[in-house]
Amino acid sequence: MSSASDSTEIAARLARVRARVAAAEDAAGRPRDSVRLLLATKTQPLEVVRIALEADAAARAAVPAGDAPRAVLVGENRVQELVAKAPHLHDLTSDFHLIGPLQSNKVNQALGAATCIESVDSVDLARRLATRCVSAGRVLDVLVQVNVSGEVTKHGLDPAHAVEAALEVAALDGLRLRGFMTVGARSPEMDVVRAGYSTLRGIRDRVLASGAAGTGAAGELSMGMSGDLEAAVAEDATIVRVGTGVFGARPPVA
Ligand SMILES: *Cc1c(COP(=O)(O)O)cnc(C)c1O
Repeated sequence: MSSASDSTEIAARLARVRARVAAAEDAAGRPRDSVRLLLATKTQPLEVVRIALEADAAARAAVPAGDAPRAVLVGENRVQELVAKAPHLHDLTSDFHLIGPLQSNKVNQALGAATCIESVDSVDLARRLATRCVSAGRVLDVLVQVNVSGEVTKHGLDPAHAVEAALEVAALDGLRLRGFMTVGARSPEMDVVRAGYSTLRGIRDRVLASGAAGTGAAGELSMGMSGDLEAAVAEDATIVRVGTGVFGARPPVA
C-alpha cells in the first residue's frame, strides 16, 4: 500500500468516526466535543500513526477555529510500543495514554513516556506509581480501570470494590485521579454493553459525590471502542478509544 492511499483512507475513516461521535453527542443531548477521541494505536507502525495525527491536524485546520474538535489523544496497550513510538511523535502530539496492563517491572519505563495511565487496576499499582512520582517531583494523571463485564479475560477492578479503591488512589500524593476506564462487554447486544457503561458512570458519580480528598477532578469516563462508541457516549463517556475504526482491521497477531 502506498503512503498516499493510506493517508486518504485514514483521513476518510477518521472523518467517519468524528461524525459518529458528533451524532452520538447530539443524540444524547450533549454538547459537541464533550467526548475526546483517543486513537488506539496498538500494532500500528509509527508511519501510520503519524499519518493519522497529520490527518487529524489537517481536518481540524480546515474548519473555523471555534468549531474544530479537540485534537486526538494517542493510546498504546504495551509499554514497549509506547516507549518506541512516543519520542517520534512529539512534533504532532504530547498526550500519550497507556491503556493496557502495566506490570510492576515496567513502571519506570511507562512513567518515562506516558502522560496518563488509564489502566490502574489495583491500589498496589497506584501506590507504586505514586511513590515514583513523588520522588520525581511530578504528578501523574491516572484512571482507575474497572471490569464492568466480569469477563475473566479482562483486566480491572471488580465494580463492587471500585469506589473504595478509587478513594484510596485519589488520596495518594503524586497521582491525580482523573476518572475511570473500562473495556466493554464483548456482546452483540447493545443493552448489555450499555449496562456495563452505566455501571462505570455510577461508580464515577459516587466517587465525585463523595467529596473525598483528591476526587474533584475524577470526572473522566474512558469507554467505548469502534464497535460500540454510541452506547458509551449515551452513558456519558468523555473519552472513546478507537483503533480499527480509524486504522482498518489490525493484522492478525502471529
Ligand atoms: C484495541 C483497543 C481499543 C480499540 O479497539 P477497536 O475495536 O480497534 O476500536 C480500545 N481500548 C483498548 C484497551 C484496546 O486494547
